[in-house]
Amino acid sequence: MVALGGNALSRAGGPGDWAEARRHMRSTAESLVDVIRDGHALAVTHGNGPQVGQILRQNEIAEREVPPRPLDVLGAESEGQIGYLVAQELEGALRRARIDRTPLVLVSRMEVAARDRAFRTPTRPVGRFYSDSEVRVLRKRTGWTLAYDRARGGWRRVVPSPVPVRWVEADAVVRLLGRSWGERLIPIVAGGGGIPVVRRASGNREGVEAVIDKDRAAAVVAGALGATTLAIVTDVPGVAVGFGKPWERWLGEVGADELREFQSKGEFADGSMGPKVEAILTFLDHGGRTGIVCDIPTLRRALQGEAGTRATRPRH
Ligand code: ADP
Ligand code: MG
Repeated sequence: MVALGGNALSRAGGPGDWAEARRHMRSTAESLVDVIRDGHALAVTHGNGPQVGQILRQNEIAEREVPPRPLDVLGAESEGQIGYLVAQELEGALRRARIDRTPLVLVSRMEVAARDRAFRTPTRPVGRFYSDSEVRVLRKRTGWTLAYDRARGGWRRVVPSPVPVRWVEADAVVRLLGRSWGERLIPIVAGGGGIPVVRRASGNREGVEAVIDKDRAAAVVAGALGATTLAIVTDVPGVAVGFGKPWERWLGEVGADELREFQSKGEFADGSMGPKVEAILTFLDHGGRTGIVCDIPTLRRALQGEAGTRATRPRH
């Protein structure tokens, strides 16, 4: 299971247009094909932060003519558009490599608990930055929670980021793919963390205004698909302790217990490396064999045990 971060599709400061996304995904797809060449059965998930930011902005500009859609619907939109892009570029790279496998995009829902604490304290920034005067207007017009980002100097809307409890389509997808899916199909699932839904007392599922962390979702999906390895691909070649400090040290092979200890000492920032480490520990706790953090250039060698940060379960 490979989880692609936002940088697989765009780079901060880039134009953020579709041509750029295609270009980035094209080279990412080549790396994914290398992984398949090495004999792995592949499943893919991906983030959606910049894309949802763009859709939110479209909604904002167009709101007088087209009623804005809620966040769960934006999640579905972004899963569709990014999933399509991943499938398209992966198909091209597979054809060039003469490998006969079919990428298959499945819009996925993730059940979260209606009583998740995250609904009381939204923390996840979405969309653009706002000025002080805009914030005064938004406070009156919307029910949003707005938080000041000290590091970057501006206000942003923050939304709940509840813990994914269950991948709604898990059983259906496992049945659909069958036992030999790795030889034929490449599932692209739970993009952007999947669409957050809660289950009401009536049994009905309802979409909620929240965003699920894609790394947490990746751990759930990797478990459901029975993946042996979860590789979280981001814009740094691994996990560091003392990140950005003079004593910074990049981790190679690391035991789950050691990683957990670093985590409890606050080595990994909330909202970036924190959820990745948490996802890897969850994956290992639930029977996964290896959890990896790496970047695109090191993905292949990380899977060969020669690059990236590679966490393994303690041996009993
Ligand atoms: P993605 O979009 O791929 O999910 P994030 O930006 O959320 O990526 O997380 C990756 C970032 O985490 C890196 O660019 C790095 O700046 C930051 N980071 C925070 N703490 C650490 C750490 N301990 N080791 C490595 N990177 C870290
Ligand atoms: Mg990010």
